[in-house]
Amino acid sequence: MKDLKIINAKFPCFSTGEWRTADLLIHRGVIEKIGDAAEDTLRTIDAAGKVVSPGFIDMHAHEDPIRSEEYRFFTALCELRMGVTTKAAGNCGDNYDLLSDFVAHIEKNGSPTNYLMFLGQNTLRVRAGAADRYQPSTRQQLDRMKQMVQEAKAFSPVGLSCGFEYAPGVTAQETIELLGAFGDEGYLTSVHFRKDGPHSVESIQELVDISRASGYGIQMSHIGSCSAIGYMDQALNALKEARAQGVDIMADCYPYVAFCTGIGTAVFDEGCFDMWKKDYSAIQLTDGPFKNQRCTKELFEKTRKEHPEMSVVAFVMNEEEVEQAYREPFVMVGSDCGFNKGCGHPRGAGTYPRVLGRFVREKKVLTLMEALRKMTVLPASRLKLASKGQIEEGFDADLVIFDEHTVIDRADFDHPTEAPEGIDYVLVGGGVAVEGGQVVDGTLGRYVPYANRG
Ligand SMILES: [Zn+2]
Repeated sequence: MKDLKIINAKFPCFSTGEWRTADLLIHRGVIEKIGDAAEDTLRTIDAAGKVVSPGFIDMHAHEDPIRSEEYRFFTALCELRMGVTTKAAGNCGDNYDLLSDFVAHIEKNGSPTNYLMFLGQNTLRVRAGAADRYQPSTRQQLDRMKQMVQEAKAFSPVGLSCGFEYAPGVTAQETIELLGAFGDEGYLTSVHFRKDGPHSVESIQELVDISRASGYGIQMSHIGSCSAIGYMDQALNALKEARAQGVDIMADCYPYVAFCTGIGTAVFDEGCFDMWKKDYSAIQLTDGPFKNQRCTKELFEKTRKEHPEMSVVAFVMNEEEVEQAYREPFVMVGSDCGFNKGCGHPRGAGTYPRVLGRFVREKKVLTLMEALRKMTVLPASRLKLASKGQIEEGFDADLVIFDEHTVIDRADFDHPTEAPEGIDYVLVGGGVAVEGGQVVDGTLGRYVPYANRG
């Protein structure tokens, strides 16, 4: 008997831009047949009135530390509830664990979602002894980092991720040389820009220069937090110009007007508030005795000194500029999720339903088809996932079933991990992972080696 069928499935066909309605027959983890499924199956889901989408592929995510008993996969479980079935983690220059350990853990225990992984440049720097974020690495440190890239290649990372804003001492030259250690063609570089706001265009120019010198495509990270501060026009024009000249550069964006990062990072160095034209009250703490409170100068300085690891939320962006980014066909959805001991920004629990509910249904910024494209087939092609991101015979049965009339995020800045509404089922590899909005199996995910060739 076959495993499962989803009857009355309304689903997007991205090659024609049309909606189709059919039954999906699922067996051994793949969509075996599309059409009338008369076969008996172990289980049947009736999707009448709902949308069946390929599972969302999070282009820009962060992983949880696997060594933490308490928070291992905390973020991934929140992501799963909002329909994410595959995530590209290790972004912004950071990893928690050695890739070998991470892969071994998932191969043994499974994970809530499928994972691809970037190697974080800043983590490599720290492991190589380049502990001062304001200093360039030495020749010896860089050689050690190159060796670590060589070793990690056995586990098929997507490529290098950079977090220039967090490590101002990193030079473009160091990055280009490190990229050279990947050797083969076809890796992708994900970059958290060097400086935001008025520095958007020069930051993008640096990415273009790195792409030209290295030959690697660049994924610009969360363009909203770089440029939705009054500079989105300039930033999008710079990207369009580079793309017109043949540079392989695209971007991702999360649907919020606040970013989130550690209060002790270089992001909050001298001059940041002037640059954003904001004051200390733009910052909200996410943990500790002043959780969910906005800062004063005193509270900001005290927390930065005493709890530099605390995640804080910074309300500095404009929603119209986030919408403007999403209208561009080369900008896809990425959550930038990553809860810090269960605290942080609602994007880890709300990004996808928020785009579908707020930006598609309520504000009509995008059509449903356009939004789903940015969540599925576009990141799938960026990550060279040949059997994910579309509902086609032979493709992986990573699916999400939601109600387009009710889907919405419920996570907010005071309750950042609230589950969304309107997402009924999530399937990972043909198994039911979420049912009725609740996680029923958080172990169906696998590590996905990146196909650097082709
Ligand atoms: Zn980042």
